[in-house]
Amino acid sequence: MTGSRHNNRGRGVPSCEGIKDASITPNTTASGTGTATTTTGSATTGDRGKHTVHWFRKGLRLHDNPSLREGLNGANTFRCVFVIDPWSAGSKSIGINKWRFLLQCLEDLDASLRKLNSRLFVIRGQPADVLPKIFREWGTTNLTFEEDPEPFGRARDHNITTLCRELGISVLQMVSHTLYKLDEILDRNGGKPPLTYHQFQNIVAEMDPPVPPVPTITAECIGDAFTPLREDHDDLYGVPTLEELGFDTEGLQSSVWVGGESEALARLERHLGRKAWVASFGRPKMTPQSLLPNQTSLSPYLRFGCLSTRLFYYQLRDLYRKIKKASPPLSLHGQLLWREFFYCAATKNPNFDRMQGNPICLQIPWDKNNEALAKWANGQTGFPWIDAIMTQLREEGWIHHLARHAVACFLTRGDLWISWEEGMKIFDQLLLDADWSVNAGMWMWLSCSSFFQQFFHCYCPVRFGRKADPNGDYIRRYLPVLKNYPTRYIHEPWVAPLCVQKSAKCIIGRDYSLPMVNHSKSSRINIERMKQVYQQLSKYRDNGIIANGETLGLMRIIGHTSKPAEEQEAIKKQALSPHTSAATDDKKMITNSFDPTILPNE
Ligand SMILES: Cc1cc2nc3c(=O)[nH]c(=O)nc-3n(C[C@H](O)[C@H](O)[C@H](O)COP(=O)(O)OP(=O)(O)OC[C@H]3O[C@@H](n4cnc5c(N)ncnc54)[C@H](O)[C@@H]3O)c2cc1C
Repeated sequence: MTGSRHNNRGRGVPSCEGIKDASITPNTTASGTGTATTTTGSATTGDRGKHTVHWFRKGLRLHDNPSLREGLNGANTFRCVFVIDPWSAGSKSIGINKWRFLLQCLEDLDASLRKLNSRLFVIRGQPADVLPKIFREWGTTNLTFEEDPEPFGRARDHNITTLCRELGISVLQMVSHTLYKLDEILDRNGGKPPLTYHQFQNIVAEMDPPVPPVPTITAECIGDAFTPLREDHDDLYGVPTLEELGFDTEGLQSSVWVGGESEALARLERHLGRKAWVASFGRPKMTPQSLLPNQTSLSPYLRFGCLSTRLFYYQLRDLYRKIKKASPPLSLHGQLLWREFFYCAATKNPNFDRMQGNPICLQIPWDKNNEALAKWANGQTGFPWIDAIMTQLREEGWIHHLARHAVACFLTRGDLWISWEEGMKIFDQLLLDADWSVNAGMWMWLSCSSFFQQFFHCYCPVRFGRKADPNGDYIRRYLPVLKNYPTRYIHEPWVAPLCVQKSAKCIIGRDYSLPMVNHSKSSRINIERMKQVYQQLSKYRDNGIIANGETLGLMRIIGHTSKPAEEQEAIKKQALSPHTSAATDDKKMITNSFDPTILPNE
């Protein structure tokens, strides 16, 4: 084993692991800072010295990493670990692009730690199995990690904290994945998450601004602490390759998105370089160019925590002040606050990603149709706009916000009447920025299952495509089979005369699919179905069966009206039970909520 002292300067997932037991609540003591939680182990650490392990999960960065900084404070040794479960790589729930992005993040982290004479330790296995073993082997006295705001992460961390207590290890977790301590927002709202963005904004407007980012880890803050390294570190703890994880990489295209903190910081600089946008604090306009991967998008980096949301927040604020010589309005941070809003809505709701048992989700009788789902997921719907988006998602792992609107509406309330849960799972598998809370929240939103219920507004897969991509260049790029189609027909090639199809060398129905549905018919039927859902809701409200503000859980009844009376009664009772009734104010949700990024009149 070689020990190295620090004298250099230097400067960060799929949460592959996870103990899915949300029934346990953490039993820790708050440190008093409002953002840190510490649990002290029974053995005193003083005699043994301080031997820190920092456990990376999200938060894959050295900038704004307050828990790592605290772990280094006064430490004799420190080791940064990431636990990877090689077996889960084989499962299809996470796509190869996402694994590649994660491995790039880890490589980058390892490279940054090397500059500080340290290394990243990638441990193979399940955290609950492998962490206690290495703690014993390394004589660990202190464990630090970033607080995980999501229910399963909280439960996993509670279990590890309990194990640590038994081993006499102190645990410190600090908030740095979100801008605010979410519990504080809930406390200010009577213990419940605010379910309208306006409510949410009002609460945060009254709170102190987010805690500013802490300085990047450098040789100075490491001080005399060092990382004991073995000669065979790479063999034991190196970052695995995709091949080692069992992926077949033959024919894999080079990555469009490169993971890691270095890339994230470079992107942030470019993002903020768009001064005109900051000055007007408006959203960048949607252009055909914006549908393509760009060098300023940040969502995958925020998701993996390669970029600190607080750094982004404060750099945006400082730039605004510099340009406008004024304090920024809350709306400057609008997109980041939307992220925070969904995290907040999900943090205490382990069923946030499903319809059943989810008190804020309308219970809509979606159809089950695996064949149609597969066509959607594989970009074979016969609507070039939809298929191009799904192809981009599968090949590259990122799609524009409004492209997400288009495909989500098509799958659910627009055309196929398939559950939002199915779409969310495909996004989770393929999107680099797929975030448990944001993804589920947006899918509920787009399917009118929660938050926003403008069911009479439906995207047309032809007209929306024409508006977003008038020349059809985006379609030609992702669906080369249609590349020879004249612009006039590219959004609805099935109406092209046969001679045009022949000269484009693509016969519809043979070389490219016919549309799988008649959009105007199916969307009309689906709007009608959705209308019934809402009529039932208001009927129950008007009859006094539910009061305004009572649960949307009652919507279980919708679509089940032919059920026997006693079953309906039981459902009604369940819907009105206190468990579900506290959750939401649906009237306000309908009237107050709006998505500022929605394209009008589509
Ligand atoms: C069906 C559906 C699913 C989605 N799933 C996700 C997801 O899993 N993860 C995710 O980060 N975004 C998700 N979004 C929101 C949004 O599409 C992406 O955040 C955005 O496209 C990312 O691009 P950008 O980095 O250029 O964002 P920018 O517009 O530059 O915004 C900056 C950051 O703010 C956050 N943000 C932006 N818009 C939203 C929003 N509406 N809600 C919450 N946060 C937002 C993101 O972290 C983003 O990186 C989803 C949208 C839809 C319609």
